[in-house]
Parts: sequence; C-alpha cells; structure tokens
Amino acid sequence: MILVVGGAGYIGSHLVKELVKTETVVVLDNLSTGFKSLVDSKAIFVEGNLGDENILHEVFTKYSISAVMHFAASSLVGESVEDPFKYYQNNVAATLTLLNNMLKHNVKKFIFSSTAATYGIPDVELIDEEQPTNPINPYGRSKLMVEHILEDFSKSYGLQYVVLRYFNAAGAHISAEIGENHVPETHLIPIILQHLQGKREKISVFGTDYDTPDGTCIRDYIHVTDLAQAHIYALNALLENKTQTATYNLGNGKGYSVKEVIDMCEKVTGRKASVEYTDRRPGDPARLVASSEKILRELRWKAEYRLEQIVSSAWEWHLKN
Ligand code: UDP
Repeated sequence: MILVVGGAGYIGSHLVKELVKTETVVVLDNLSTGFKSLVDSKAIFVEGNLGDENILHEVFTKYSISAVMHFAASSLVGESVEDPFKYYQNNVAATLTLLNNMLKHNVKKFIFSSTAATYGIPDVELIDEEQPTNPINPYGRSKLMVEHILEDFSKSYGLQYVVLRYFNAAGAHISAEIGENHVPETHLIPIILQHLQGKREKISVFGTDYDTPDGTCIRDYIHVTDLAQAHIYALNALLENKTQTATYNLGNGKGYSVKEVIDMCEKVTGRKASVEYTDRRPGDPARLVASSEKILRELRWKAEYRLEQIVSSAWEWHLKN
C-alpha cells in the first residue's frame, strides 16, 4: 500500500488517478486546499493533518504502507513572503513529524515534491541538478530545508528517497474529470483560461522589462500527467531498491514567455484575450527552464506533452467546470 499525503490536491490527485491502476492507495489530506471530489474513488481516503501524530499513528498501524509520497504543502511564493511562519510550519515542521512517524513504523521509502524555487535565480539556459541552490523566498527555502533533512535522515536512519523538483505544473487529466482548481487562482494558464471563459475581465502580465527576448518571464510548463508518471517511475525505483537517494528536475526543457503562453491559449481556444501590462511581481526570476536529462538517463522518464496539449487539456477541463 502506498500513502499519498496531499492526494486531494492538484498534482496529488492526478498521481492517485494513475497509481490506483496498479497499487492500493491511501490518501491523507486535510482538505485545506484540496477537494475530496478530486480523489479517485478507488483510493482509501483519510481526512486529517500530516502533522498530527495521532492520525499518523492510526494510518501506519491500520495500513501496511510500503512507501509515502508527499504532496501536501503551501506553495505560493507571494504568500510565503507575507507569512513565512505558515510555510515553515506546514512545509518543514509537519513534514518532520511525518518522517519521524514513518521511521517509527519502519517505513523508509519517501517521494518528496520539491520545486524549481530551490534554485533561486540561476544564470544558465537550462538548469540541471548540479546548479547551486540559493532560494530567494521562504517557499523555496522551506522545500530546500526538507531536502537537507532527507539527506541527513538517509545517512543516519537509512531513509530511501527521491526528491522531484517541479517546474511549472499545468494542464488537466485527459478524462477532463480533474484539473487545476486553486482558490484563489494565481497561476498563469488557469487565469488566462478563466478570462477566455468570461470569468475574469482581463489578464495582467507581470513585467515586460525582463532580460528575455519579449521582456516577459520564461517558464518551463509541464503537464500534470507527465509529473504523475515521473512519480510512478521514482516509486518503482525505490520499491525495487534500484535507488537509494536521488534528486531530479521535472520539466520539458523548453521555455515559453508569458506572451507566448497567452498566444497559445488564444490559438487553442480561438478566443481573443484582453491583456494589461503591469509591474513585475516580486520574487519572479526572469527564466526557469529545466534540464531533465538526469531522470531520462537514470529512470528513462521524459515529458510527453507539449504546451499546446497542456493548454488544450486544461481548456477541456475548464469548459466542463
Ligand atoms: N504571471 C502573469 N500574470 C498572472 C499570473 C502569472 O504574468 O496573472 C506570470 C508570472 O509572473 C510568472 C509566470 O506568469 O512569470 C508563471 O507564473 P505562475 O504563478 O503560473 O507560476 P510560478 O512561475 O510563479 O510558479
């Protein structure tokens, strides 16, 4: 049995939908930002906090868990600057409690959702895992702290882990049954699509004076189903004891500017966006594009979906919801 913490969230629920095809899955989620309706009906659902020792004890005693996949986190850069306590509490302290309770029950395989925000402002075209980690906000720092904890726990307690550093997750499941639903929404692609659906008056482009060809920020968008697949590859590597510890970037290796993403959304939907150009959003690096060569080399994973499919799958889901 696999425990998926945060399995009712955007990325967690997409992973669960794939994982239930081959494994018995227990989802632990406090539904603070997730939705029970996103959890596949084949999974066992437990409502509760990952920082709650009693619930963890109950879960690890009742179910025979062989690995834990941890998606539950606060993940907004701006919010992390306003309220760092929340980020260190939810992302670091609660994760420490989870890890401690895993080890108490002799569960030693762990997959951790990390982020490109651990790199800070890298000065390279393609970011590989050898780049220095210099996060520039509490969100990135909270994730990097857990990465350090995992390193130490591996050396001292024999924890086996895979850290997956996501670039920009986007898109929706091919069934259009589940998709990206944050309240409030802050992410670029859902904001553009909500606008094109008539749910927002306009979209704002945050900054046009970046050192990029069109002046807007460049990101590497990766389909959420590709992310889910990478987790399954990583899980199998841990279950088969092929991996002791590893850290991988997950991206497409191709960057798109904010303007290019808007153009793609207009193309896919056949609708015209009303755009305003505003100041930069604090904390945004100009360019974040992944090299995912390492996970291709070691686990044979690579992203299958490109931006057009990411946007069209998201659009299908938006039209249904
Ligand atoms: N962005 C924007 N307008 C919006 C939302 C986002 O211009 O309404 C930009 C943002 O500044 C960043 C890119 O789109 O350069 C991707 O932002 P998002 O919040 O989707 O993801 P992040 O890169 O912060 O994880």
